[in-house]
Amino acid sequence: MKATLLLLEELQRHDARLLELDTELAALPEKLAVLKRDVGRMEELLGAERRGLVEAETYRRSRELDLKSDEANVAKAKTKLQQVKNAREYMAAQRETEVTRRLISEREEEIIKLIDAIEASRKSLATHTDDLAALHAHVAGDEKEILARLDELRAIADGERVHRNVVAARVPDNVMKRYGAIKLRRGLAVVAVKGGTCQGCHMAIPPQLRISLQRSTSLETCPTCNRIIYSDSLLTESALERGEREPSGPTATE
Ligand SMILES: [Zn+2]
Repeated sequence: MKATLLLLEELQRHDARLLELDTELAALPEKLAVLKRDVGRMEELLGAERRGLVEAETYRRSRELDLKSDEANVAKAKTKLQQVKNAREYMAAQRETEVTRRLISEREEEIIKLIDAIEASRKSLATHTDDLAALHAHVAGDEKEILARLDELRAIADGERVHRNVVAARVPDNVMKRYGAIKLRRGLAVVAVKGGTCQGCHMAIPPQLRISLQRSTSLETCPTCNRIIYSDSLLTESALERGEREPSGPTATE
């Protein structure tokens, strides 16, 4: 049973690594999508800014046409003023000229404000266009990195899966079934017992069970969390047997 427990412990390490790799593999495309969404949003904003500028320019041109027609009206009023026959007509023509003059000066002020606003919009648009270009370059670099990392991770995961399957093939079928079922429910299926305590649920293991664990002749499970348990001395012994000073590899229980 010792050999099976060691295999299970190794299998679990491969599974944990694979889970890590698969999680990262799943997260990276999402990260890229977020970056691209940001670019898309910025492109939309820039598009709206550009449309706003076009509208402002169209409006400015229409105001300038209005100004021209007002100026023409003033010229007409002046002619009228020269042709007046009496004081009443003179007063009326005079008033008309004044009204139009006031209108012209208001229009001129408005047009100056529009020109200033358009100039400011143009500058802001130029800055934002540069920003977007920089973001494009940045995202392109990130994308390249992410795609390279995905390739790398896929290769590592493939290798890990091969190793995992080699180990899994050496575990008896009935034990694999139990391992799979516990893993599904608990995540961690195989845990060490350290100082009489299950490292999965941190509950004390009954003394009788601890003795069985020391012998490692049967597959035991924790009475509280139902995980497969082994004595923590198992890894040390196995490492010593292989001539190593320290147990190999990290255990998920520490
Ligand atoms: Zn337990």
